Parts: sequence; structure tokens; C-alpha cells
Amino acid sequence: MVCHRCGSPYKSEDRFCGFCGYNLSVTNSSNFVTMHAIHAKDIQYDLGLLYFKEGKYQEALEIFEKIQKETPDNLQVINMYERTREALNGSDLNP
Ligand SMILES: [Zn+2]
Repeated sequence: MVCHRCGSPYKSEDRFCGFCGYNLSVTNSSNFVTMHAIHAKDIQYDLGLLYFKEGKYQEALEIFEKIQKETPDNLQVINMYERTREALNGSDLNP
């Protein structure tokens, strides 16, 4: 493996690059996978938003629900999920 900033080789147990001091945990392979997954969620989110704008609340809800399961800490998705649910059910569910 090589440092993503300076290209120096490092061992898998190293947390920082011995040459430039770059934080290697930021760019390890599992984080790259996560970043790709988040990007894929962005595309799904846009689709959900499109459904919401077109009034296809059931389709939008299914998409937001799916994203929420995979990225439960995404406040933007939680917010849109709640808005879509309210749009589907009217204001009856509000406390
Ligand atoms: Zn480096």
C-alpha cells in the first residue's frame, strides 16, 4: 500500500504516513467503499426527491426508507422521510 498524498509505501498497521504524516485511516480501502456507497445514496436521494415533487409519495417513501436503513444518521434523509410520510397520511399523524 502507498500513501495517497505522497506515494510512500506503508504497512497496513500504520495509522500515519512515516514520510509526510498523512492520516492513513482517512483513505483506507473500507472508507473508499463507504464513500462510493454514500455517492450511490445521493443518486437514490435525488430520485426520491423527484418522486416527492411529482406527488409520487409512495415511491418516494420506499426510496427514503431504504436509504435510511443503510445510512441511519443522514438527517437530510430522515427529514425527507418524515415529510413524505406526512404528505402520504395528511396531518393526522402529527402530535
Ligand atoms: Zn505520505
